[in-house]
Parts: sequence; C-alpha cells; structure tokens
Amino acid sequence: QAYSIAGQTALVTGASSGIGEACAWRFAEAGCKLVLVARRAERLAALQQAIQQHYNVPVHTIVLDVQDLEAIARLPAELPAEFREVDILLPNAGLALGVASVHELDMQDAATMINTNVLSVMALVRAFTPSMVVRNRGHLLFMSSIAGREAYSGGGGYCASKHALEAFATSARHDLVGTNIRVTSIQPGAVKTEFSVVRFKGDGSKADAVYEGIHPLLAADIADNTLYACTRPPHVQVAEMLVFATYQC
Ligand code: NDP
Repeated sequence: QAYSIAGQTALVTGASSGIGEACAWRFAEAGCKLVLVARRAERLAALQQAIQQHYNVPVHTIVLDVQDLEAIARLPAELPAEFREVDILLPNAGLALGVASVHELDMQDAATMINTNVLSVMALVRAFTPSMVVRNRGHLLFMSSIAGREAYSGGGGYCASKHALEAFATSARHDLVGTNIRVTSIQPGAVKTEFSVVRFKGDGSKADAVYEGIHPLLAADIADNTLYACTRPPHVQVAEMLVFATYQC
C-alpha cells in the first residue's frame, strides 16, 4: 500500500528542466510543498506558475548556482518558515561536460562536474539532514547514473563524479541507519533531456545521435520511479533503482 507524502516539503535542485522538472510535477501531484532550485530564473518562475495553476501546493523558487557551497549552507536559515523543514531532498542538478580521454581531459570541465555533481550534493545533505535527524524523518534521493556503477571511455570526469556520488549515498545510508531517514540512489540510463545538449556544448546533432535507435527514457519515467521510492511504507527503503531504456544495456 502506498504511503502518502502529501504535506511534506520536497526540495529539488535542477528543477528548471529534465528529470528535476518532471519530479517537481510528480511531487506537486502527490501534494508536496516544493522548493525548486536552478540558475535559470525565467524557467523556474514559469514552472512555479504552471504547477500552481494545476495543483494547490505552495511553491518557493531559489535562483542559485549550486556550486556556491556557502550559499547552500545558508539556505535552511534563509528559507521562509513554511519550507524550512525539508522532508524530501533531491539534489538532482548535475551535468556531463564533453567526451574526452583522460589524457585530454579539460580540467575546467572536470572541476565543474565534480563541483556540481558531488560537492553541491554533499553541501545540500550537510545543510538539510540535521533537521531530518532531529525530526527523525526524511528521504535523501541521489540522482546518480549508470555512470555511477560502470565507467566508460571518454567519460572519466563524469563517471568519477557519479561513482563518488554513489559512495556518498552508501555512506549516508550507513550513517543514518537506525533513523527513519531513507536513502535512495537512482541510476538512470539514457534519458532524453537537455543533458546531451549540455554534454556536447550545444551541438544538437551530436546530442540527438546519443538517443538514436534506443527509444530513450523520458524524464517522466524517472520521476515515476522517484515517486515510487518515496511512497513505499516507512519501513521500506528502496536503496538503489537502476532504470534502463528497454533497448539499452
Ligand atoms: P538537464 O540538463 O535537463 O537538467 C539539468 C538541471 O541541472 C537543469 O535544471 C540545470 O538548471 C541544473 N543545473 C546544472 N548545473 C547547475 C548549477 N551549477 N546550479 C544549479 N543548477 C544547475 O539534465 P537531466 O534532467 O537529464 O539531468 C538531471 C540529473 O540526472 C543529473 O544529475 C544527471 O547527471 C542525471 N542523469 C541524467 C541522465 C540522462 O541521460 N539524461 C542519465 C543519468 C543520470 P539551470 O541550467 O537552470 O541551472
């Protein structure tokens, strides 16, 4: 039997597109209050308005580059009181930049991936988990990847970042054992979002080629799986979800 998350507060980073946006819609449908974070202010404002037209839930937006770790540390104190106690934390903002062998790695790209995919997640967990521990409730959802389980040629920076994220998620699970805080790592395969456009730095034809012949997942598919993990009864911890497109392996 599904567990209701209505009334819980869900904080989603990377909510301005793709998987984060789809998860925001799903959480709103489930009756959550939302805190939506990304850099693109217009996208966030449009999403806030669209969600509030469909669902009667409070939505707060924060325009932030998650690489700003000090700003993340300040967030819990700066949030309006009704959003301050985050129950569901989805630090989903992330990216791959470039395809490069290790001997050609662009160190700026590598740093951006580590800062965004790993350090920002650590900072968000550090900021919002203390209140979860005090309240003895919460759910940490890590948006990992197949690249967190397998490493491949040309993806040294991205695969290293998602492997680090997996290690952090596993440590979180160990650290929080004995509490009612659940930890889930979601490991999508190919999902058709802006991810590939970002990876190929705006080259649309290279981005589209990634999805040729595999009927990729949609962001909504990953949002469905994310909601599934959150709506299990409290004693059920979905630790990992590896989700492929059917034609992918
Ligand atoms: P999108 O590019 O569509 O979305 C990425 C989101 O992250 C955007 O909302 C973007 O918002 C936000 N973001 C990126 N950098 C920053 C930053 N520095 N500060 C704040 N927000 C940032 O890609 P996806 O939805 O596909 O990606 C979401 C997550 O899913 C990522 O962690 C990715 O690694 C993971 N994933 C994706 C897969 C795929 O095939 N698509 C497969 C496996 C995992 P803005 O630009 O407005 O800041």
